[in-house]
Amino acid sequence: MVVERSEVDLKDRWNVEALFPNLESWQVAYDTAYPDQKPRWPEIEALKGHLGDEDPEVMKAALDLYFSHDRLLSALYTYAHLRHDEDITHDDHKVAFSRITAIAHDFAQETAWIEPELISLPENTLNELIKSPQLKDYRFHLDKIIRLKKHTLPPEQEEIMARTGKAMQTPYKAFSAINDADFKFNKVEDSNGNELELTHSLYGMYIRGHDRPLRENAFMTYHNKYMNYENTLCELLNGQLQSHIFNSRVRHYSSSLEAALFPKNIDVSVYHSLIKAVSSEIGSLHKYMGLRKEILGLEELHLYDVYVPLTEEFDMTIPYDEAEDLIIESVAPLGTQYQEILKKGLKNQRWVDRYENKNKRSGGYSSGSYDTLPYILMNYKGQIKDLLTLAHEIGHSMHSVYTHMNQPYQYGSYPIFLAEVASTFNEELLGQLLLKRAKSTEERIYLINQKIEDIRGTLFRQTMFAEFELMLHELLEKDQPLTPQLLRQKYRELNQKYFGPDFVFDREGEIEWARIPHFYYNFYVFQYATGISAALALADQVTKGGKEEQQKYLTFLSAGCSQYPIEILKNAGVDMGTPGPVKTAISRFSKLVDELEELLGSKKDSKSFKDSKSLKR
Ligand SMILES: [Zn+2]
Repeated sequence: MVVERSEVDLKDRWNVEALFPNLESWQVAYDTAYPDQKPRWPEIEALKGHLGDEDPEVMKAALDLYFSHDRLLSALYTYAHLRHDEDITHDDHKVAFSRITAIAHDFAQETAWIEPELISLPENTLNELIKSPQLKDYRFHLDKIIRLKKHTLPPEQEEIMARTGKAMQTPYKAFSAINDADFKFNKVEDSNGNELELTHSLYGMYIRGHDRPLRENAFMTYHNKYMNYENTLCELLNGQLQSHIFNSRVRHYSSSLEAALFPKNIDVSVYHSLIKAVSSEIGSLHKYMGLRKEILGLEELHLYDVYVPLTEEFDMTIPYDEAEDLIIESVAPLGTQYQEILKKGLKNQRWVDRYENKNKRSGGYSSGSYDTLPYILMNYKGQIKDLLTLAHEIGHSMHSVYTHMNQPYQYGSYPIFLAEVASTFNEELLGQLLLKRAKSTEERIYLINQKIEDIRGTLFRQTMFAEFELMLHELLEKDQPLTPQLLRQKYRELNQKYFGPDFVFDREGEIEWARIPHFYYNFYVFQYATGISAALALADQVTKGGKEEQQKYLTFLSAGCSQYPIEILKNAGVDMGTPGPVKTAISRFSKLVDELEELLGSKKDSKSFKDSKSLKR
């Protein structure tokens, strides 16, 4: 029985009262901060056109104002969004959330002039400003903006570029419209002859299920839909990639890849190095696919056999308090300070909203701002996967805590490139502890398979996507037209390279690219692969190392966005420009595959392997 929000025990709820005692006090703070006037921030508006006064005080005033308003807004926003997620049907909270969202939108609009005005200043003025002692706390922030100058166009041309924005969004919008709204899928049959609905989320469920005929039917029906529209879908993706290329050429980048990575100061070699390192170790994925085929007892391994778990969800219920204790124990390699902060956060400060209640948002996340607790939303049910989710979100929250302890507001967040490192790192530490504690072979197999699938989906699959994305951009940059036939052929070749000889690739699989929204995101997915690689490499260093490795990791957590992400990782001992971290991650994958093989081998010897219900259905 799912309870009403009002029936949830205080100790099981997150401590929103630490932020505002109640909604009324939040409303008072809101009305005080945002009186009904336009512009909403007249003191920021007053500085427009004055950043070039060659007076560092003016620049400092602008940045101080910007960040102090941003800071207040973030805290108010955090409260409204947490309350909204507790019960998404609660009217007062819905209103509060939409009011603060509107303010955030206004703030973005009213401050949108700051960066362009800054970039347009003459080189000398900028150099003087950045050197001035008054601006020393903003030096890196300014540097990040100023380095875009050489790819910034004269103001009239920038104006034209800005005006192309809406038209350039059409391919992605049209893709979303056809994919999320227009597409309706035919019904599919399961192994008992029942006709079942097919939607995007049901597809995700069927493809992970143990009913093979259903998996196959769902796969075929789902992809045939895309196949029937392949000309349209090809043109849409083509349109999106053309806009990336347009942008890179107009702004004088040497390639669309460079244009996408330059603002984050990530060298294109990081991208190439990832693909090269994964390619050189691809044998370990082939081996796993062979093992998967054997465990599932299949004659042929198809794309629709790749997601089904090799075991059932391991049947074990871990009470929430025990989960906390296990996670606190698992982070011992990070030292007592880390453990103490976490313990206090979980046991005394109530960071976590623990259980499901009626109309609560699903899933899990870590959220908060500089002046708030690092809140965690959970729908904890006691399975191992919930435990791992909690460890993951705690990784994000502790990253926030260390960053907030050590950085001023302007450097108090972390970039996307680093975001998943700390969370994956903590999942890995917990996984190691659980493996050590596992009481049965079934439990070990479950845990190992979980980790293998994690690395496969995040490192191998995302790198395959990254390779495909790069290939398409490069073809277009050489003026080779993208045709549906070419896309299918390239996608097939790539899948065969990644999945290896034990794999049967159906014609329907050739169209899989057409349903992946990430190909519209402009070189985004490689960050999933670099993130998990960095996390596994760091976990390897910390667990095998001593005080120095531990300290380096804590320095990484403390850095926020005070340096470029590649530098922050390098200081922690992980150089993403080299194949090392990716190879460490893959060697962890290989070891896990070997262990799985061994465990299954010993099960096989004890006779029941081939018929085991939990492994084959
Ligand atoms: Zn995460």
